[in-house]
Amino acid sequence: MNATTPQRGFTTAILHSDRAQTIEHGALHKPLHLSVAYGYRDANDLAAVFQNRQPGHVYGRQGNPTTSALEAKVTAMEGGVASVAFATGMASIGAVLLTLTAGGDHVVASRFLFGNTASMFQTLEAHGTRVSFVDATDVAAVEAALTPQTRLVFVETIANPRTQVADLARIGELCARRGIVYVVDNTMTSPWLFRPIEVGASLVVNALTKYIGGHGNALGGAVTDTGLYDWTRHPRIVDSYKTGDAKRWAILQIRKKGLRDWGGTLSPEQAHHLAVGAETLALRMDRQCANALALARFLERHPRVRAVHYPGLASHAQHELASRLFRAAGALFSFELGDGVDTFAFLNRLAVVVLSSNLGDNRTLAIPVAQTIFWEMGRERRQAMGIAESLVRVSVGIEDEADLLADFAQALET
Ligand SMILES: *Cc1c(COP(=O)(O)O)cnc(C)c1O
Repeated sequence: MNATTPQRGFTTAILHSDRAQTIEHGALHKPLHLSVAYGYRDANDLAAVFQNRQPGHVYGRQGNPTTSALEAKVTAMEGGVASVAFATGMASIGAVLLTLTAGGDHVVASRFLFGNTASMFQTLEAHGTRVSFVDATDVAAVEAALTPQTRLVFVETIANPRTQVADLARIGELCARRGIVYVVDNTMTSPWLFRPIEVGASLVVNALTKYIGGHGNALGGAVTDTGLYDWTRHPRIVDSYKTGDAKRWAILQIRKKGLRDWGGTLSPEQAHHLAVGAETLALRMDRQCANALALARFLERHPRVRAVHYPGLASHAQHELASRLFRAAGALFSFELGDGVDTFAFLNRLAVVVLSSNLGDNRTLAIPVAQTIFWEMGRERRQAMGIAESLVRVSVGIEDEADLLADFAQALET
């Protein structure tokens, strides 16, 4: 949105975003553009697009008009400057890390990360980037890890599955003071619950696969530049991308070196699914968060449950922080069953809830964490991350609250 556009509400802005751009045939949805290549009548225009002097499309690997429309929506949702979409959330994280760090650089990452992201940081280490994994709930731990070579700090808003909340605002102040790129993975909160630009994030990552798409029918990811970081001081921006507005240098480099060169391109069909899903993000998330709070409260009082981890509960270590930063405490919680309750037998009794590894779906999904998504890392690292062998993660959907409460209640009976 530009300065002449009146500031609209979140959902209104998403719904009408396509028509703020070029409208084709009056279409209310951005049409699917399946062409791989784009032709130009004038060689000057073709060259200008290649040289980043003029917007336009040249080859589908680095974007297409349908994907651009989705990128504009994500940018509006995050209140940022520009976004690049990718085939998956992981592709978007990989593009950020690969293009803004080099061997010998140092990065600080939260110790409580999505498992595949933690695994990616280990791959970076093998390529010569030094990584410090720290307790991101404490800004002092982040500060203590910084070195003169630290190029980037990476955190998630609410960690999955234990729901630790990063010390987001104070880490933002620290990064601003030290001139370090601050990357926030906003997947668990989504821009409806939280905008990382408000805590000084430089770049925001969203796995569109989760809440923004919401229906569990399309993979996608996006990186958004908030416009807060001064890229003229960053040593990893290559000269060919230091063109035009400096606020867009990093996003151009991420599109060229990240998307174009590594090829994790979002297809136009998937972009369309995700854009349709995004229209109802706020409605779905409000309902999912309300359901999650009701379930977490019910389980916390249940005699067969030992512990519930959900930032919406007063018993959560960062409850106060989460209440201050987020519109609601999210739609994911985890819990541990009491002694003598067989976790797998409990899971097998669930009738409405689906046993599945995804999160952010409209359907409520549950999974035993240690035996599945955190199996590969081994018991020792699980313990360091506070993951009990009996931990169950629940991604709460939009079902009717009474049906969810009844399902957990019957599964807890023996
Ligand atoms: C799922 C997820 C990702 C990865 O997204 P994909 O689209 O599955 O690649 C990254 N970060 C977080 C926090 C996630 O939950």
